[in-house]
Amino acid sequence: MEKIKKYLKKIFEKRIFFDCEASKITSFKTGGKISILLFPENKGDIESLYHIQNQYNIPVKFLGHGSNVLISDKGYNGIIALTEKFSDISFENRNVYVQSGVKINTFLKFLINNNLKNGEFMSGIPGSIGGVVIMNAGTKDRFISSIISRVDIFDRKGNWIEKNISQIKTEYRTSSLKEDAFFIYSVLFNLEPGNSVEIKLKMKEMMNYRINTQPLGYPSAGSVFKNPEGFSAGKLIEDAGLKGTKIGDAKISEKHANFIINTGKATSSDIYSLIQIVKEKIFQKYGIILETEIELIGFGNNK
Ligand SMILES: Cc1cc2nc3c(=O)[nH]c(=O)nc-3n(C[C@H](O)[C@H](O)[C@H](O)COP(=O)(O)OP(=O)(O)OC[C@H]3O[C@@H](n4cnc5c(N)ncnc54)[C@H](O)[C@@H]3O)c2cc1C
Repeated sequence: MEKIKKYLKKIFEKRIFFDCEASKITSFKTGGKISILLFPENKGDIESLYHIQNQYNIPVKFLGHGSNVLISDKGYNGIIALTEKFSDISFENRNVYVQSGVKINTFLKFLINNNLKNGEFMSGIPGSIGGVVIMNAGTKDRFISSIISRVDIFDRKGNWIEKNISQIKTEYRTSSLKEDAFFIYSVLFNLEPGNSVEIKLKMKEMMNYRINTQPLGYPSAGSVFKNPEGFSAGKLIEDAGLKGTKIGDAKISEKHANFIINTGKATSSDIYSLIQIVKEKIFQKYGIILETEIELIGFGNNK
C-alpha cells in the first residue's frame, strides 16, 4: 500500500489525501477512515486508477455527493475518488452535455437559464450526475433515464465507449451501468424548449413538496429501502409502528418512515442496526423482504 500511495502522490500531487473521515464526504455524516481519497480531473487519471485496481487489487470507488451510501465505521481500505472536478456543462439545440461530477442543483439552474424543460422532477434530489444516472434516480412519476440519450463511460474492460440509452438496461433505482461502467464520464440529455418562469415554478413546487414531507433538516441518505412491488416501503414501516425508533442518535424519521436520520452523533453501526431491525420487523409482520436502496460500503455482503 505504501508503494501505491507514493505512486499516486506523484500523479495526484495536491489532489490526494490519506486517512480521511468518511463523515466529511457522506450525506449521513458517518463512517470511518478512508485510506486514500483523491480527486481525478481527466481521462488519464481514470486510466491510472483502473490500472491500480486491476494490477494491485486495490478497490477504487467513485463518489459524487455521497448521498446514497452508508460507509462502515471500519472505513474503506482502498481508494475513494470524488468526481467533482468533472464539471463541464454545455448545450446545443436540445442536447445538454454534462460531465458526471456536476451537481444536480447546478444542472437544474442551467436548465432554467437556458429555457429547457422536463428535468423539473429532479428538483430536491441531492447528488451528482454520475450518481443519479447509475442509480437511475427519480420520483414516483419519472426516472432520469427518460431524459437521457447517451452516456459516455470508461467500461470495466478498460475502453472509453459511448452507450446510447437503448443499450442501457434501466429499472427502478438501478441500471446496467452498475455492472458495465468503471467510471461514468459524461451524459447527454435530450430536453424540450420551455419557459424559464414556468420551469422555475415547477421546480419550486417539487421542492416545497419535499420540504413538507421529508426531514430535510437532518443528515440522511433519502429513502433507505426500495419500494417492494405494489407497496410503499415507508407505509409498511409506518404501519409496523416503527416511526421514531432510535438506536444511538440514528432515528427512523417521524416525518417520513423510509428515512433514517442522524439526529446528532449517530454512527454507521447505529444506522446499520436500525436497518436490520426494520428488515426483521417487516419480514415478521408482512413476509416481505425489504431491499436497501442505499449502498452499504464495508459491511460485507449483508444487504
Ligand atoms: C434528502 C435526500 C433526498 C433524496 N431523494 C431522492 C429521490 O427522490 N429519488 C432518488 O432516486 N434518490 C434520492 N436520494 C438519493 C440520492 O440523492 C440519489 O441516489 C443520487 O443519485 C445519489 O447521487 P450521488 O452523486 O450522491 O451518488 P453517490 O452516493 O456519491 O454514489 C452512488 C453510487 O453511484 C456511483 N457513482 C457516482 N458517481 C459515479 C461516476 N462518475 N462513475 C461511476 N460510478 C459513480 C457510486 O460509486 C455509488 O455506487 C435522496 C437523498 C437525500 C439525502
